[in-house]
Amino acid sequence: MGSTKSLLPIPQKKLAGNHALTEKCAVFGIFGPNNEAARVTYYGLWALQHRGQESSGISSSDGKKIYRHASNGLVANVYREEDLDNLPGNVAIGHNRYATSGDARENYNQPIINLDKTFAFAHNGNLPDTSSLVKFLQKNKVKTAKLNDSHMMAVAIDIFIAKGQPLEQAIKSAYPLFQGVFSAVAMDTTQLIAFRDHCGIRPLSIGKMGDSYVVSSETCAFETIGAKYIRDVLPGEMVIIDKNGIKSEQIVPGTQKLDIFEFVYFARPDSILLGQRVNSVRQRFGAEIAKEHKVSADVVIPVPDSSIPAAIGYAEASGIPFDMGLVKNRYIHRTFIQPTAEMRKRDVKMKLNPVNESIAGKRVVLVDDSIVRGTTMRQVVHMIREAGAKELHVVISCPPVKYPDFYGINTPEQDDLISSRLSVEEICKYIGADSLHFLSYAGMIRATKLPQNVFSMSCFNGIYPIDIGNAAKKVKNITLKAKVSPKPRKTHKSRNEPVKALA
Ligand code: AMP
Repeated sequence: MGSTKSLLPIPQKKLAGNHALTEKCAVFGIFGPNNEAARVTYYGLWALQHRGQESSGISSSDGKKIYRHASNGLVANVYREEDLDNLPGNVAIGHNRYATSGDARENYNQPIINLDKTFAFAHNGNLPDTSSLVKFLQKNKVKTAKLNDSHMMAVAIDIFIAKGQPLEQAIKSAYPLFQGVFSAVAMDTTQLIAFRDHCGIRPLSIGKMGDSYVVSSETCAFETIGAKYIRDVLPGEMVIIDKNGIKSEQIVPGTQKLDIFEFVYFARPDSILLGQRVNSVRQRFGAEIAKEHKVSADVVIPVPDSSIPAAIGYAEASGIPFDMGLVKNRYIHRTFIQPTAEMRKRDVKMKLNPVNESIAGKRVVLVDDSIVRGTTMRQVVHMIREAGAKELHVVISCPPVKYPDFYGINTPEQDDLISSRLSVEEICKYIGADSLHFLSYAGMIRATKLPQNVFSMSCFNGIYPIDIGNAAKKVKNITLKAKVSPKPRKTHKSRNEPVKALA
């Protein structure tokens, strides 16, 4: 039985608001016959490092209790050989965390486990409206002030476990309280469960490796561990994996609304989202820009790494040669060593360095995936000018980001989004480029080869498919439709047959 009192680890600091930590994270899970679940999870998390570099954690079970190891830092630094030895068993879940707060909040690391060590939970996403959850927890005498959204979700499930419900039923009971975005994994000592919000905003896929089933935020982790992709966990679906195999239950009706920003920036290029290879979509973003915006130039240079495919696509479609005129230091990550004031000013220089011969005297097309605050591009433009570019044309492989995110991707407040304040001409002037072009909305959709209605594009159009509650009051020019999302009806339709691959 679980405990309703609290969960480990307990956050120590009071948060400013219920969802002060907006997180883009990675989750991974495995259930199989062999006792190496934690080790496989370790490699899975390694492949998902790009989704979160702040901390990493794994929980595993040998059928008796749940073990956990989590710490701040990159996957490669968090686990030693003996840490993995101390995570025995054939079922495991893992989590990489990225949070906006700069301090080391070890207490918010995931997976979250209950005091009885019988239940573990990890979450990718964000709940913009925790009002029902808070009400429910307070009714059950839980102090919520120090809990973030993921902890509240875990406590709510644990309350139902403590009432004697099996994990599967406890998740179903708590599900209506989760108002927001979640691709989540949970486990007890005998099973692995994966479930997703009714819009499937963040990705979550199922794979198979021998007799083991795995779930992962992105498919790139499957190839790393030698698993084969089967299909996605569907919006509103819960997938249960135990010694009897895999079964599925549609908790509420789902409508696919994947966050299109996964294609723009987050996902690794070798992942497949909704049947489309991210790398190919990004190359087509570049080709679409070349159709929309013709420039006479000598060289196409990406801002590495995320815009490389788009720059390749642009160069191919425009016939302008591609060159890696900027080199990224791959080993720069968020650290807990504070940079000196002087080094902070050189922030972009620490990450990127121009290759002067590729730039000097040339008319440059500079490609980036997005402009959020505008800080990076202003510094990069300055850098390319200093390297002697004759002309500098900036192209961006998505439309202007005008609306804040509430679904777990860590964009700033609306006033800090440069496109919500300035016109394209004004931004061009601010960053110091000769011209600036953003990929059109229609071009972005066309490049995905998917219908527009399978996406959430809230950061571009202000339409929030999942109700963002009171936060909507703060969003300027929000689309009215966005304020209300259909509350899904409960169906509890059970499908006990084996999970089949989608056609
Ligand atoms: P800035 O305009 O300076 O805020 O940063 C924009 C750059 O950050 C882009 O080049 C992206 O590669 C990257 N980026 C975009 N969205 C995010 C995000 N949510 N979190 C971290 N980096 C991002």
